[in-house]
Amino acid sequence: MIQSTILPTQCWCGIQFAIPEELKRRHDEDGYAIYCPLGHSCVRKESEAQKLRKELDGTKLALSTSELEKAYYRRKLERCEKKKTHKKK
Ligand SMILES: [Zn+2]
Repeated sequence: MIQSTILPTQCWCGIQFAIPEELKRRHDEDGYAIYCPLGHSCVRKESEAQKLRKELDGTKLALSTSELEKAYYRRKLERCEKKKTHKKK
């Protein structure tokens, strides 16, 4: 089970990537350095609206993650059920 929320963030070069909420919080509050996949240092430069939109996107992402998890466990359960029926025969 994934506990931490993953928040999408964007580098000045245009690359979008996601970082854990805790890391994002440190970045916002303490200026903790984060780097994009290309190695650029990400400088925080966003308005309150952008921030809120990112939070919303993060929530959406978290929701879709739990949907994926559900689908994964459903498939796993189905496989187990199939195995059981197979054994009975
Ligand atoms: Zn970059």
